[in-house]
Amino acid sequence: MDRTIDVGVLGATGMVGQQFIVQLARHPWFRLVWLGASERSAGQRYADAAPWRLPDSVPPEVADLVVQPCEPGSAPEIVFSAMDAAVAGDIEQAFARAGHTIVSNSRNHRLDDDVPLLVPEINSDHLGLIERQRTRRGWSGAIITNPNCSTVILSLVLAPLRQFGLRNVMVTTLQALSGAGYPGVASLDAVGNVVPFIDGEEGKIETETRKILGRLDSDRVEPHPVQVSAQTTRVAVVNGHTESIAVTLEAKPSIDDVRDAWTRFTGAPQRHALPTAPAQPIVYLTGQNRPQPRLDVDRDGGMTISVGRLRPCPVLGYKFFALGHNTVRGAAGAAVLNAELMVAERVLATPVRG
Ligand code: NAP
Repeated sequence: MDRTIDVGVLGATGMVGQQFIVQLARHPWFRLVWLGASERSAGQRYADAAPWRLPDSVPPEVADLVVQPCEPGSAPEIVFSAMDAAVAGDIEQAFARAGHTIVSNSRNHRLDDDVPLLVPEINSDHLGLIERQRTRRGWSGAIITNPNCSTVILSLVLAPLRQFGLRNVMVTTLQALSGAGYPGVASLDAVGNVVPFIDGEEGKIETETRKILGRLDSDRVEPHPVQVSAQTTRVAVVNGHTESIAVTLEAKPSIDDVRDAWTRFTGAPQRHALPTAPAQPIVYLTGQNRPQPRLDVDRDGGMTISVGRLRPCPVLGYKFFALGHNTVRGAAGAAVLNAELMVAERVLATPVRG
């Protein structure tokens, strides 16, 4: 397939929006033709609308696009969403009502009964909810979501452990500053400090994880019975959320069995050989001081979860660390992978040319 699918980005000027632009500018299937942001940015050349905050410069084919207001109509059928959650809910619904397929990062619709909360390696069958969504809401478009940036890391490392009788999970996160958007946390709060509170984050991790790992039962998802307890902190790291995780596994597998379950784990993206899919979604690092954000976060373009330090836990059974890139696997890369999955599984409203 040759760049035949036109796409747009809502919230194109933000931290995640810029990451979308990087992912889409070099994408073999998608052609980025439309950018939306707030009234503050609309009407300006993209390169003038907001400072570019990623390495390299703004891709030249995007620099001259004029930022549009976030209103349906002129946008292409597939639109990625990276808008501030304060406005994303209503705007995404308006786009879906107008026939657009919204591939969203925002939290607003993740837990709606008829909205897929996708991690394609884990629950590609949850795309089956789209038909119910269209019937129930009477729209020809669709809203598909990816999880919170910490949840996607946790879900990916837990999914291969379901076979061992996954029961209880304790997770403490060390989350990067880029996860708070721009300008995010004030430097005087962040530098040389750990902030033990991220508003709303713990609840998202505890509930979204159960929906992602859950089973599609006719037209709804039965949440997985695992109990998750989360504590979240913000640390002075630029990119990469690290998670300290302990789990109870009823079958009491050996340490080697757990490690093998991770390294053998693949799913629909690898089966379809999707362009953004890492060959191996979970990589186990044997170094005793890994994973580290500075060394490991960009592996496979930021789409791989790095795991290390698996060992017995005297309280829950097993403990380890996991790391993932929050604006790539936790946001823009995750959404692009979701859109690729929809193309590969032919669930878009309009057939794709090419
Ligand atoms: P951000 O840097 O603050 O960017 C927010 C974007 O929303 C900007 O493009 C902004 O446009 C736009 N916006 C604000 N008000 C708007 C309005 N009234 N109408 C239309 N657009 C409006 O935030 P971010 O970190 O990129 O996060 C974007 C979304 O992704 C959020 O919902 C967030 O929770 C979610 N998310 C973020 C991460 C992460 O790691 N950062 C991970 C997963 C999910 P202007 O520039 O014109 O104001």
